[in-house]
Order: sequence, then C-alpha cells, then structure tokens
Amino acid sequence: MVQSGFSSIVHADLHLHTCFSDGTYTPEELAGHARRCGLKAVALTDHDTMEGCERMAAACQAHGPEFIPGSEITSEFHGHELHMLGYYLDPQNSTLREQLARFQEVRRQRVHDMVDRLNRLRIPLAVETVFALASCRSPGRPHVARALVQGGWCSSLDEAFERFLKKGKPAWAPKFKVPATEAIALIHQAGGLAALAHPGLNHCDEAIPDLAAAGMDGLECFHTKHSTAMTQRYLETAERHHLLVTGGSDCHGMSKGQPLIGSLKVPYECVERLREAMQRRAVEAGFLLAGSRAADPS
Ligand code: AMP
Ligand code: FE
Ligand code: FE
Ligand code: ZN
Repeated sequence: MVQSGFSSIVHADLHLHTCFSDGTYTPEELAGHARRCGLKAVALTDHDTMEGCERMAAACQAHGPEFIPGSEITSEFHGHELHMLGYYLDPQNSTLREQLARFQEVRRQRVHDMVDRLNRLRIPLAVETVFALASCRSPGRPHVARALVQGGWCSSLDEAFERFLKKGKPAWAPKFKVPATEAIALIHQAGGLAALAHPGLNHCDEAIPDLAAAGMDGLECFHTKHSTAMTQRYLETAERHHLLVTGGSDCHGMSKGQPLIGSLKVPYECVERLREAMQRRAVEAGFLLAGSRAADPS
C-alpha cells in the first residue's frame, strides 16, 4: 500500500496521447473515454506537439472532464533520453510554437532517414505513406511501424520495432533531444509547469536532484509501468526535493493493445496542487512584470 498522503476519491489522468502524436484516439474519443471512466481532470500530453489541445479543450468544455493543455517534450540530460511533461501551457505562446515547430521538423526529417534506411534494406516503403498514415505534425517511429505492418512487411508493431526500429536495429535513426534544462525553461516561459515523465522507465534517478535544482516543478510518480515499490520511492523522492506529484496512464489508445485510460487512479489532489502552483507562478510573473515596469523609466 502506497502511503501517498492523498485522500481523493476522485481521480485524474495527466498523461494521455491522441492521434496528433502516436495515440490512436481522436481528442473527442479520448474525452468520451475519460467521461466514461469518471475522471475529473485530464491532461493531453502528445509528444512534441499541442496540435490536439484545441479540439480536446472543446470536447471537454460542455460535459467535462476538466482539461489541462500540455505536451511531452523529448529531452536529454547528460546523454540520457528523458521526457519532460509541460502542464498548463499556453498554446499561443510564440516561443513555444516556434520550438515545437522545430522539434516537429526534426521528427519529419527522422522519418525520412528511417525510410531511406528501409529502402536500402530493399523495403520499398514510400515516405508519403508514413506521413499520410501519421496525419499529424509530430510523426515518429510508431507511424513507421504502422506503415510496415500495413504494407505487409511486418506482422505486428512489435515485430517492426524488434526487426527494424529499435535502437541498434538497421532502420533506427538517431533522435534529436532538447537539453532538459532548456525544456524546463521553454515550459516556464509559456506559463507552464515542468514534470519529469515516467522516471522509472528512463533510469535517470540521479538526474532528479539536478533537474529539481534547475527549476523542474514535478515528478510523475504514478505511471502504469511503475511498480508499487517504484511509486512509493518516487513519492518519497518528490517530497525530498519539494516536487509536485503528477501521474497518468500514458494511454496511447489502441496502439499498445488495451487502452490504459482509467487503469490508474491518480488522486485529483495532484491537480489542485498543480493548479495552485501554476497560479502562484502567474502571480509572481505579474509582480515581476509590474516591478520591471516600475523600475524602467521609459
Ligand atoms: P519516437 O519518439 O519516434 O522515438 O517513438 C517512441 C514511441 O514508440 C514511444 O511512444 C514508444 O512507446 C513507442 N514504442 C517503442 N517500442 C514500441 C513497440 N515495441 N511497440 C509499439 N510502440 C513502441
Ligand atoms: Fe508515445
Ligand atoms: Fe514518454
Ligand atoms: Zn507519453
């Protein structure tokens, strides 16, 4: 039993993907699933994009759940891949929009690289097929995998990863990753809060104190791939470093077998604490702005 210090009987899911990255649900389908699961709040955290947030917000507006616009930014710290979740991001923030567009361009180029490698392996997959299948600005390996299955070259997504797309396999191409400290700064300047996704999957525990010192706000303690012991350990780590606790299912729809939404009970109190922190940050930024104006005679 995890001693989380939370008492909510209502729940949230703060890590979800749609067809605007590598999930299979549309925002409307995802909102419907969230309602049927009885979730009080959800965050959309597609990889390196906020393209689905407007539709998700509209889909949640009338009948809930409460919606938090977010993204999961592919990052690195001392050579290790990390995923940095951003919550309460302003999708209109111009620097964030520019940077996400840059990350998406790099993702598209990587798809070209992977398809080139497959072509050299005598698999005549057309890059247009992958982009048509992805139908979003933030394509990735799962879309290449789906195209390989669709074209009959592989019988499952797992086979596509195992034979071609996993690191070290012949069609794998290196991935651009923004330094985690830059991802945190990018999230902050867009009015958001930064939380390290699924630390249990990245073997990066030693990075957590440094990331906390760099201003990271939260830690995804609850995740479908965290064991109870891991969750307990990350709850303690979060407390030690004064990090907010977040959590989510990391549901990708039907792309990884059963949909995971609703399978994890993240206490709604996590959302209340996140929201309070975001509002505090906004007030402080307002004060700073007012202060700098007062100090500036022009
Ligand atoms: P990318 O960001 O393009 O490198 O793709 C990473 C995505 O591929 C993540 O969402 C992973 O969960 C997904 N992925 C990795 N291995 C597999 C697999 N064997 N089957 C399906 N999806 C996978
Ligand atoms: Fe994914
Ligand atoms: Fe992730
Ligand atoms: Zn994810």
